[in-house]
Amino acid sequence: MAVNLLDFDLEGLAAWCSALGEKRFRAMQLYRWIHQKGESDFRRMSDLAQSLRDKLAGVAEVRGPSLLSEHVSADGTVKWLFDVGGGNAVESVFIPETDRGTLCVSSQAGCAVGCRFCSTGHQGFSRNLGTGEIVAQLWFAEHRLRQRLALPAGVRAIDNVVMMGMGEPLQNYAALVPALRTMLSDHAYGLSRRRVTVSTSGVVPMIDRLREDCPVALAVSLHAPNDALRESLVPLNRKYPLHELLAACQRYLDSAPRDFITFEYCMLDGVNDTTELAHELVRLVQGQAAASRDLGRISCKLNLIPFNPFPASGLQRSPRERVQAFAQVLQDAGIVTTIRKTRGDDIDAACGQLAGEVQDRTGARDRLAARRGLIPIAAAGSVS
Ligand code: SAH
Ligand code: SF4
Repeated sequence: MAVNLLDFDLEGLAAWCSALGEKRFRAMQLYRWIHQKGESDFRRMSDLAQSLRDKLAGVAEVRGPSLLSEHVSADGTVKWLFDVGGGNAVESVFIPETDRGTLCVSSQAGCAVGCRFCSTGHQGFSRNLGTGEIVAQLWFAEHRLRQRLALPAGVRAIDNVVMMGMGEPLQNYAALVPALRTMLSDHAYGLSRRRVTVSTSGVVPMIDRLREDCPVALAVSLHAPNDALRESLVPLNRKYPLHELLAACQRYLDSAPRDFITFEYCMLDGVNDTTELAHELVRLVQGQAAASRDLGRISCKLNLIPFNPFPASGLQRSPRERVQAFAQVLQDAGIVTTIRKTRGDDIDAACGQLAGEVQDRTGARDRLAARRGLIPIAAAGSVS
């Protein structure tokens, strides 16, 4: 099978090109055609020598994602469902805001962590995505949006990427890092390190490696201020308890592009949303709890996420007043706290609603899409 050039970061592409007898400069030109211009047809890469274009056509391709459906929400959120083979699908979500455009990217088909409140977790783990499959989500979304929105040359649609789609990115580390490098490269998407966020449920050794290999903004899914409660929500806490996780956060802050960690906290009715737990959370991040006493205050922001329910979870979203009371305790303690606005609700594009199964090729896929409010691509609305 032809090599998919989306699988390479610039270094990888340069090495591959040098094996073809081509100079690094050529690799850079090729990389720019692919990522900056969204070109997948080698014949149209007009400043590459004809001989190279012919050579590339014989051995390589730019294989974008296989689109199953696209849906545009009333609030402008766009969700794409991509077929990744073997009956699996993954989703990417574009969230437009007045000052920026954010793409939420998936890293795995399913997830092995199995958090109680997450529909991807309930689905189990299918497989890791390759670098090309991660990058392809941005490649596709950026160029599709530029075209749809008729953006002038040089204006990008996406300036913020969050690895908050399906999967645990730090359990797919080898594929993640080259994908991040392409997101950051000035010859590709040129995103700022502060605007590429890896979200993790707490894979401690990989937090340390990310700090060394490719420091970007870090979000940690906390969800509870003590080990007993966190274990019941995020099974990975048994392997990497809070003390170890927070120590890794402190180490990360030494070289992070931002001077804070974002802690995510999914608000679950009657489970983790009392004001007592909010006070316990304050003590934890201020270095006054058993799990954090030797670590000192951790520079952080809190992002409270109202739970997006799905039937198999048996859980409910915390009432608005309780989320506000919880936020107030944190704010009174001087912790910057935001309550995430739920976007794309009407198309099941909100956090933790990304199910992404494609059962078979005989119509179940369409039934699933219809049930979940997705519409087939042929009938998809346009981005406005
Ligand atoms: N695996 C990574 C990134 C993907 S999940 C992680 O866990 O951080 C992205 C975010 O969505 C996480 O903070 C996760 O806790 C949250 N989330 C998962 N299911 C959710 C749900 N049903 N409602 C609200 N947030 C959810
Ligand atoms: Fe996996 Fe994140 Fe969902 Fe937990 S919340 S199951 S780590 S995707």
